[in-house]
Amino acid sequence: MGRRVSSQAGGSLRRSVALAVLLWLGLALAFAAGAANPSEPPAIAALRADQTRTAAQLQAQAARLRADSKDPAFRAWATLAEAEFANDQEHAEAALAGLDQAMAQAAALKLPDLRFEALIRLSTILVNRGRSKETEAVLAKMQAMVESGSNARWRALWLHERGVLERKLGRFEEARSLFLQARSLFAQLGDAVMEAREMNSIGNLDGRTGRFSDAVAMHSDALTIARKAGDKSETARSLRMLGVLYLNLDDEELASRHLLEALDHVEERNRREAIALHGELIGTFTRLERLAEAEYHGQQAVRLAEQSGSHPNRVNAFTRMAELRLLQGHIDDAEQWVAKADESRDHVAVRDRSLIGISRMRVLAARDRTAEAIKQADAVLADVRDLGDRILERSVLDLMSELQLRAGDAASAFATRKAHQKLDKELAIDVAARRIALLESSLERERAKTERELLQRDNDIQALRLNRQRLIAIALFVGLATVLVVSALLYARYRSTLRHRNELRASRDALERVANTDALTGLANRHAAARALGERLGRIPEPLTVMLLDLDEFKRINDTHGHQAGDAVLQEAAKRMRAALPEDALLGRWGGEEFIAILDGAPGREPASVAEAMRATLAAAPVSFEGVAIPVTVSIGVATAFASDGIDALLAEADAALYRAKGAGRNRVVYGRPPAALA
Ligand code: GH3
Ligand code: MG
Ligand code: MG
Repeated sequence: MGRRVSSQAGGSLRRSVALAVLLWLGLALAFAAGAANPSEPPAIAALRADQTRTAAQLQAQAARLRADSKDPAFRAWATLAEAEFANDQEHAEAALAGLDQAMAQAAALKLPDLRFEALIRLSTILVNRGRSKETEAVLAKMQAMVESGSNARWRALWLHERGVLERKLGRFEEARSLFLQARSLFAQLGDAVMEAREMNSIGNLDGRTGRFSDAVAMHSDALTIARKAGDKSETARSLRMLGVLYLNLDDEELASRHLLEALDHVEERNRREAIALHGELIGTFTRLERLAEAEYHGQQAVRLAEQSGSHPNRVNAFTRMAELRLLQGHIDDAEQWVAKADESRDHVAVRDRSLIGISRMRVLAARDRTAEAIKQADAVLADVRDLGDRILERSVLDLMSELQLRAGDAASAFATRKAHQKLDKELAIDVAARRIALLESSLERERAKTERELLQRDNDIQALRLNRQRLIAIALFVGLATVLVVSALLYARYRSTLRHRNELRASRDALERVANTDALTGLANRHAAARALGERLGRIPEPLTVMLLDLDEFKRINDTHGHQAGDAVLQEAAKRMRAALPEDALLGRWGGEEFIAILDGAPGREPASVAEAMRATLAAAPVSFEGVAIPVTVSIGVATAFASDGIDALLAEADAALYRAKGAGRNRVVYGRPPAALA
C-alpha cells in the first residue's frame, strides 16, 4: 500500500506540474493571440508576415486559399489579405472593393477584429489619397470600437491612424503627440516592431520641423529595434528616414549610403517604400552631381509609380524627375513632368501639392517668367508655413529671394534673405546642437538601459519569489492531498477490517451454534450439554438436579410409523419437555431418543414436580403425524448433587434411576439416591 500511495503522490505532483505547464502555455498562447488577432487563421497571418514574395504573388496565393476554403471566417480573412496585397501594389480601387467585402463579411460573421483590421487599411488608403473627410469617418468608426472595449492594441493602432491624418493635414504637433501615445502603448504591449514604427513616425515629424538631433536619435533607436526584431519593412523605413535627414543636413554621402542600404531591405511587396527610396536617391545623386545614378533611380521611381497608379507616388516620382531634368537643362521635359504630377493634384494631400508648386516655380524661374514664379512662390510659401515643414520653407525662400532680386525688388529680396538666414540659423543651431544632443541621448539611453536592467532584475527576483511561493503552494497541496489519500485508505482499511472481524465473529458464532446444537430438535447437543453440566455444577444455588429422559419403546414407533414419524415425535417431544421446564433450566439431546435436563436449586423449585410435569406433558396427548396419532411416553431418572459429588457420579446415579424406571414399567419418574448433603 505504501508503494501505491507514494506512486499516487508522484502522479498527482506530475499532474500538478503538467497542469501548471499547460496553464502557462495556454496563457502564453492567449497572450500572443491577444496581441494580434485571435480570429485570424494562422495560414493568412503567415502570408501577411511573408517578407520574400512579391505582393502580386501573395495576392494570388491568398485568392487560392480563399477559393479552397469552405470556412466563411477563413474566406473573410483571406479577402482582407488580398485587399492588403492589392494596396501594396497600389491597386487602390481593388483594395477598397476588397475591404468593403471584408467589412461586410466581418459584420455578417461578427468578427470585430477583422472589421478593425479592415478599417485600419481603409484609413491608410484614404489618407494617402488626401480623402480626409472619408478618413475621419473611418477613424470615428474605429474610435467607437476602441471605446466600447479595452483592447490596448486597437487603441494604439487607432492613435497611429489619427496621427497620420493630422500629419497629412499639416498639424504636426497633434500628430506627434498621437504617435507618442501609440508608441508608449505598443511598448507596454511588448510589440517592438510597432514601437519602432511609431518612433519613425515621430522622428519623421521631428526632421520636418527641423528638430534634427531628436529625429536622428529617434530613427537610430528605431533602426536598432527593427533590426533586432528582424523586420525588413521598418528597418528600410528607419534607414530611409536617416538618409533623408542626412540629406537635409547637407551630408549627401551619408545620405546615399543609408538610402542604398535601405533599398536592400525593402520587401518585395512594399512598392510604396521602394518608390519613396528611389525618389530620395534621385535628389541625393542630383546634389552629388552623380547624374547617371540619379537618372537610374529616376527611371526606377517613375516605372514603379506608373505601375502603381498611386497619386502620392506619382507626384513624388514626377516632381523629382522634373528637378533632375531642370538640372540637366531640359526645361521642356521638366515642364512635362510637372504637368504629369499636376494631374494627381486633386488626389493628394497639401504637402504633395506643395512639391508640385515648388517644381512649377522652378520651371517658371528657368523660363525667366519671374513674376509668375514669384506669385507661385508666395502661394507655396503660405502652404508650407501652414504645414510647418521648415525644410520645404527653406528651399522656397532660397529661390524666392533670387527671383525677387531678378525682378529688381531688392527690399523684398533682402527681407526674404533675412527670413532664410533666420531659418538657417535656427536649423544650424540645431545641427550644432546635434552632436551634444546625440551625446546626451546616448547618455540618456545608457541610463535608461541601466534602469531597465535594474527593473528587469527586480522583475526576475519578483518572478522567482512568486515561483517559490507557487512551488510551496503546490508542495503543500500535494502534501495535503497525500495525507488525505492515506487517511482515506487507512479509514477504508479500518472499515473493512471491522467488517471482516464482524463477519468472522458472526460466522464463528454460527459455527459454534451449529457445533453445540442438535440439528433435529434445536436443543443443545450432548457436547454442549456436558459442558453446561460442568459449568453449572458447583454454581450457586446448589444443589444441581440432573434428569435423564428416555422415550419409551421408541424403536416400535420407528418400526410402526417409519423413521420420519420417529423424527417428528422426537421434535414434538423435545418441544413439550422444553416448555415444561423453567426458563433457566437446560434441556439437551443426550443421544438417540435420550434427553438430559439440568436444573439448579433455586428456592421454591421442586425437581420432583418439574420431572412429573415433563412426563405428564408427553403422556397427556399423542403426537400427530400426517393424520396419525402416535402415543408417546417417557421414563425419567433424577439425581441431585453438590459439586463435591462430581459429574460422573451424578450421571451414573441418574442413569441408574432411569434404568429402574424402565424396569418398573416405564412412563414414570424415579429418584436416585439423595445427595450426601441432603441425606
Ligand atoms: P425402551 O423403552 O427400552 O427404551 O425401548 P426403546 O425401543 O425405546 O429402546 P431401544 O434402545 O431398543 O431403541 C431405541 C431406538 O431409537 C433405536 C433407534 O432406531 C431409535 N432412534 C435413535 N435415534 C433416532 C432418531 O434420531 N430418529 C428415529 N426415528 N429413531 C431413532
Ligand atoms: Mg434408549
Ligand atoms: Mg427408549
